[in-house]
Amino acid sequence: MTERIGIFNAGPAVLPEEVLLEAQKDLFNYKGCGQSVMEMSHRSPVFQGIIDDAMARLKDLMGLGDDYDILFLLGGASTQFLMIPMNLCPDDKTCNYVNTGTWATKALKEAKKLGKKMHIAASSEDKAFTYIPKEMDITDDAAYLHITTNNTIRGTEYHWIPDVNIPLIADVSSNFLSKPMDFKKFDMIYGGAQKNIGPAGMAFVVISKKIQEKLPGNVPTMLDYKTHISKGSMFNTPPCWTIYIVGLVAKWIQDNGGLVGIEKINKEKAGYIYNAMDRTDFYSGPVVFEDRSLMNIPFRLPTEELEKKFIAEAAQENFIGLKGHRSVGGCRASVYNSLPLKWAQKLGHFMDEFAKNNG
Ligand SMILES: *Cc1c(COP(=O)(O)O)cnc(C)c1O
Repeated sequence: MTERIGIFNAGPAVLPEEVLLEAQKDLFNYKGCGQSVMEMSHRSPVFQGIIDDAMARLKDLMGLGDDYDILFLLGGASTQFLMIPMNLCPDDKTCNYVNTGTWATKALKEAKKLGKKMHIAASSEDKAFTYIPKEMDITDDAAYLHITTNNTIRGTEYHWIPDVNIPLIADVSSNFLSKPMDFKKFDMIYGGAQKNIGPAGMAFVVISKKIQEKLPGNVPTMLDYKTHISKGSMFNTPPCWTIYIVGLVAKWIQDNGGLVGIEKINKEKAGYIYNAMDRTDFYSGPVVFEDRSLMNIPFRLPTEELEKKFIAEAAQENFIGLKGHRSVGGCRASVYNSLPLKWAQKLGHFMDEFAKNNG
């Protein structure tokens, strides 16, 4: 196959074609320095330039300044689930979580395992996580409130940011940099790079100077945010290649109109699929209308047999990644930033045709 296919994977996911081609060009000999980014010392000035550039571009996109630090850490978003309560929930306080599905549940479980006082401030479990709870009941002794801004498996997304007077922490793995957001409202955001901003192998953490004052200093070295902040995210060997690609993706977003431009395209892309879903009773979406995600779109067909057939026929047309998460079944289209518009358009058309032929 010489053509690229339609990559609707939930993560690792599609990357911008321009970024892949640029990385390919520089793969063998990065900008004439005689070595690739995978081979160079992370202590070299060339790599220092790469990591500084990636951090600066991310901050520019978020509109954040020196009052925040960016970290690139190993262990994925999943390790953040434990680092957050370990670092930011003292024993005399209670960490508060909104439970909006699988990943949120995993996050709050780690707080419990660490023996922290944990409180579920809101949950949408009563309706199979098909909506974002609007009301919260936060404890008086809250150390922080943790939310998941986009629920990759269930397909719900926060289209607003809770107003709270305690530190707000968010797992933004699957909608980071997909739209303008008031990032200053958060004391910490984090996620796995492999959904929306790069290849697998790294978590990004954006942490405010304000919340850093609360870090205790008795945490094991590698799990202590202080360690990584004090060393510019290079206490030990960082995931150099992933950081390099994240820098290229950030530049690509800047070149494509920033977050305002990206949101416009993301709305158009998601629109092709939601419109195909809404035009007919053949497809049904489980998510409450106002909480629909622009990034992950789950849908059902009338029977599981038809879902299998849909996925098989889609594969023949070069659409991949359309199977729903194994825990919920059905179908899911992930339409992250980097998915070319034409593929979302093509999938909408394919859905129309499939409904006509099988309805
Ligand atoms: C994928 C995902 C994670 C897990 O990320 P890893 O980097 O694999 O640990 C956590 N939260 C959300 C919202 C995700 O989509």
